[in-house]
Amino acid sequence: NMNRNLEKTVEERTNELLSAKQAAETINANVTAIIEGTQNNIWAFNRNYEILYINNVFQRDFKQTFGVWLHPGVSLIDALPEALRPLWKPRYDRVLRNEQFTVEDEIETPEGTIYIQVTFNPIVNKGEVIGGSCFGSNITERKLAELELKRAKESAEESDRLKSAFLANMSHEIRTPMNGILGFAELLKNPELTGEEQKEFISIIEKSGARMLNIINDIVDISQIEAGLMQTDIAETDINDLLAFIYSFFKPEVEAKGIKFILRDHLSVHDCCVYTDRDKTCAVLINLVKNAIKYTDFGTIEFGCFRKGNFLEFYVRDTGIGIPADRQEAIFERFVQADIADKMAHQGAGLGLAISKAYIEMLGGDIWVKSDDRIGSSFHFTLP
Ligand code: ADP
Repeated sequence: NMNRNLEKTVEERTNELLSAKQAAETINANVTAIIEGTQNNIWAFNRNYEILYINNVFQRDFKQTFGVWLHPGVSLIDALPEALRPLWKPRYDRVLRNEQFTVEDEIETPEGTIYIQVTFNPIVNKGEVIGGSCFGSNITERKLAELELKRAKESAEESDRLKSAFLANMSHEIRTPMNGILGFAELLKNPELTGEEQKEFISIIEKSGARMLNIINDIVDISQIEAGLMQTDIAETDINDLLAFIYSFFKPEVEAKGIKFILRDHLSVHDCCVYTDRDKTCAVLINLVKNAIKYTDFGTIEFGCFRKGNFLEFYVRDTGIGIPADRQEAIFERFVQADIADKMAHQGAGLGLAISKAYIEMLGGDIWVKSDDRIGSSFHFTLP
């Protein structure tokens, strides 16, 4: 009887053990499937930094990055390149001091920068830390999206700042001629003015009005360009005719300033008629010559046009104040003059060159400047 009871108990215990073993195997298989099925790096180590467990993904990634095939028993510290040990050993030590934490690393690879995030967890048995486990993931996509967002934010802030500076300058640009108009209209009311004085005041009012109109035209043009509403009107255009017009239009103003004005190059009769937008080409030349006059106090302003392959190249050269190298690109951007803190005392809304650049690009050409600070500038543009 006792024997039978004993056998029964043994059988029961054996069955219990068997089902416990089966349960453990199922759990083990599930955990392995999860750990091996993930794209993340998973590894665990003991107090001697020896690998207790490592998944395939981490084995493969580590081999790819450092050329070493890791497996259980290998020391994580010895496997690392010397240079990285001072970074990683303290991390493993922190886990062994029972700390849980996450770090982010930036790694340069031949395929570009990758970003990884690693979470460290102590493994505790009966109240004692016997090792640590690590969970690493590649967060490059998220990181790049974050960086892109940050850049977009900075660029929006920068553009906001430029617009505010532009508005402040614009208010000044509009208020100055407006004050001229109102102030001198007031003075004109005085019945005792001489004819000469009257003429002078009226001329100031006219100049202020013209300056105001210029600014308003520029604002309308740049808004149209930005809204994509500016259109071109391509027709047969006689370039020599255009150059002659610019010359006779500006000659009195340039010479009144004591500067020599020279139309240096024009085109042969075979080349002078092209299909382009006459008004826009004229507007750009006017802008460039006006600037040359504005920023030149003595010397020469010369301009012209010559053929270069299938393009025409125009230039306007002056002996004025010149443009420092670090500003030669920025001056073609809208709002920029407004942002220059130490700008010389010249009027201008800083839109002329931005409009010119937009026009030339619309017409299939290019615009650029060559300048030596204090020696002069030469602006060039091409048209097909
Ligand atoms: P602005 O109305 O201020 O003249 P522009 O867009 O025409 O606006 O020019 C932008 C800036 O480029 C000017 O403020 C000036 O600093 C510089 N600039 C343009 N042309 C010349 C030039 N011929 N000589 C020196 N500086 C120039």
